[in-house]
Amino acid sequence: MIHHECTNCGEPLVSERSSFGLLVRCPACKTHLRAVPPGVDGDDYAAVLAERRWSRTRSQYRWSVALLVVLGLGATVFLIWRFAYLPAHEMNMARRVWAAEAEAKARQHLAVHGDADGAWSAAKGYVTQRLISPGSVRFPWPESLDQVAVETSTGRWRVVGWVDSQNRFGAVIRSNFTCQLQYDTGKWRLISLEMAER
Ligand SMILES: [Zn+2]
Repeated sequence: MIHHECTNCGEPLVSERSSFGLLVRCPACKTHLRAVPPGVDGDDYAAVLAERRWSRTRSQYRWSVALLVVLGLGATVFLIWRFAYLPAHEMNMARRVWAAEAEAKARQHLAVHGDADGAWSAAKGYVTQRLISPGSVRFPWPESLDQVAVETSTGRWRVVGWVDSQNRFGAVIRSNFTCQLQYDTGKWRLISLEMAER
């Protein structure tokens, strides 16, 4: 705001900063006069124009800075999204798809072939049924099931191991066994079981 007074009647006037140096009309005496602060010669056009130009430059400068800040923020957000968030997000999605595919494949494989864990458990059951004293049966804890149970053809498994159990006289005897099993849609079937005392 520019506070000045009418050069004709002395009426105190308030003009917009944007009308600096422009003609305004005194509401009291209707005289036209230039809106300039006290001490500035309204007829000094060079000074008036310079002030107006400077005021415009200052305003443009402020807008330019504001625009740059907005653009900078936008660019920063975009760069973070594009090079940090998006790749991580896409990688996560891909990993989830791979995991689901692998799981489906494993489930399908298990349904057709069975697995070493199931073969070993089924073989232990058949071996235990053969023994005189099922309560005394002790199987080794295999380090790796893949070493004791092998799929020889689709769903056909051979399990080789040993078992300790009491004979009819209460003596603990170790026997070797070879068990052939067939896996079919969730069920194990005994094909053959050979056992021999060591
Ligand atoms: Zn006046």
